[in-house]
Amino acid sequence: MFHYQKIQFLTSAALISQCPEDTGAEVAFAGRSNAGKSSAINTLTNITGLAKTSKTPGRTQLLNFFSLDDTHRIVDLPGYGYAHTASRNRQRWSKTIDAYLTTRKALKGLVLVMDSRHPFKPFDEQVIEWCLSIELPFHILLTKVDKLKQKEVQQLKNQFTNRFDPDDPLASWQLFSSLKKQGVDVLRQRLDAWLEP
Ligand code: GDP
Repeated sequence: MFHYQKIQFLTSAALISQCPEDTGAEVAFAGRSNAGKSSAINTLTNITGLAKTSKTPGRTQLLNFFSLDDTHRIVDLPGYGYAHTASRNRQRWSKTIDAYLTTRKALKGLVLVMDSRHPFKPFDEQVIEWCLSIELPFHILLTKVDKLKQKEVQQLKNQFTNRFDPDDPLASWQLFSSLKKQGVDVLRQRLDAWLEP
């Protein structure tokens, strides 16, 4: 298992040309703003405030790279917008991220963070389509499950079981709570498998 707590901020990139050299292996995190992406990265690494780096003014629209060691990285992609700015925000997000997702050789998988109370918003679906079209494996992290009632958890599980085949090599999903530290090991195993197959 990787020592995710050894993670360190590497660099930020506004353009593909500013990304670190495209060697080794990396995993990217994407999700709607407020879905719980920063909290999930903090929980994964056990470092409170690590992903806050990505939220400092001027960095929110950037790709933020963190290194696990010399050849393995985690990439925090800009959160995609709230409803009222969706269209403009989406276009801007799309351009850089599309380029990143389609050209980055080091990218082994995408963690798609969704608030478990509001999964599958239109842009989430678009990201899924993207991944499927370029055959990039994705893992849906359903955050904030501590906010759901038992019955709602069951409905959510049913929804995902119906949609995704457990043997699908491209798609996987899990329940997660940063608050309760639920699902951390499952997430680490997923990342380990991508980073060091
Ligand atoms: P981001 O914009 O996707 O990076 O979202 P954040 O990680 O900043 O989280 C957005 C809000 O949701 C914050 O107020 C967090 O405290 C809260 N939050 C994130 N994860 C969880 C969780 O697992 N459980 C609960 N109850 N709240 C969470």
